[in-house]
Amino acid sequence: MSIPPVVSWVVTARCNLSCPHCYVAAGKRPRAAELNPARRLAVAERLAAAGIRAVFLSGGEVLLLPDLERLLAVLCARGVEITVCTNGLALDGAGARRLRESGVGSVSISLDSALPAEHDAFRGRRGAYRHALEAVAAARRAGLRVNVDATPTRAAGRGIGALIWLCEQAGADHLTIKRFRPGGRGGANAAVLQLPLAEHRRILDDVLAHAGRARLLLDVQDPAFHCYARWRGADPALLNPAAAAGCLAARDWFAVQPDGTVTPCPLLPLALGNVLDGELPTIFERSPLVRSIRDRALRSGRCGRCRHAQGCGGCRAHAYAVSSDPAAEDPYCPMPEEALR
Ligand code: SF4
Ligand code: SF4
Repeated sequence: MSIPPVVSWVVTARCNLSCPHCYVAAGKRPRAAELNPARRLAVAERLAAAGIRAVFLSGGEVLLLPDLERLLAVLCARGVEITVCTNGLALDGAGARRLRESGVGSVSISLDSALPAEHDAFRGRRGAYRHALEAVAAARRAGLRVNVDATPTRAAGRGIGALIWLCEQAGADHLTIKRFRPGGRGGANAAVLQLPLAEHRRILDDVLAHAGRARLLLDVQDPAFHCYARWRGADPALLNPAAAAGCLAARDWFAVQPDGTVTPCPLLPLALGNVLDGELPTIFERSPLVRSIRDRALRSGRCGRCRHAQGCGGCRAHAYAVSSDPAAEDPYCPMPEEALR
């Protein structure tokens, strides 16, 4: 049983913001159990030695990490593709150039709304919107590929057309619309943040209306998006083929948490082991949880009787957050019942 080729490494829970939807529930201080720089370096070496193809460094705010350049050096030396995820507050021109020189290929910058006041209010920091857009520009100038991450909620980001236009104007290469998941602080705030399913569907429809016309790659981080798009009659050629894989957890990617715990996905807080305590292949080979997540025939509820289950699988993190069962139905599936048969 192979290791997924991509890892989302949540390197720290320390952040310069405290956003209401943060699944890491990040804040001013690192977690007590967070790895020290020497052990983080050992994690980077383990990931590189395991033949991981791509690493998404996320947090928390990655750019606050004092030892970031040492981690990048280890990963870069082994040819690992590196993406740094950031809220943009700490990314200026010099910082972007340093990332590029350290072997980083892409940055993923959070921007939740085309409206400055809405983004700033959601992120709890005046100027966050301006910083995010300045970070996009700085990254472009440094030669980094730029993805913008947006998580629409009741509080921000329902105007998808305006967001697409803004990202195009800013020169972003890629816009990822993330489905809100009720994990971490997002779990505590789900009642006020999570959009009604009808609104989520409207957002998917807005994305489909722009697919093929937008001057950037448009993605939705929802495992059902591809089958939803086909059900709506969208031309599959206009969609990112990678999205056809559905849920990536434990198959196409996994996560390492700030204390080294390996989880099937950054949003699914179920431990498979610790990256420093065992060999990664062994961790994946021995885990019954990995086997059950990978086998989409083992889903229950709607996902268990759905004809799209093999291509979608339903979000395991959302299922777990709501029912404490990682094999349960995805409670936020956008497909109507008649489209499952
Ligand atoms: S029921 Fe589950 S498997 Fe089927 S489309 Fe919805 S989320 Fe995907
Ligand atoms: S569990 Fe959800 S968030 Fe994680 S990979 Fe699957 S669909 Fe994506």
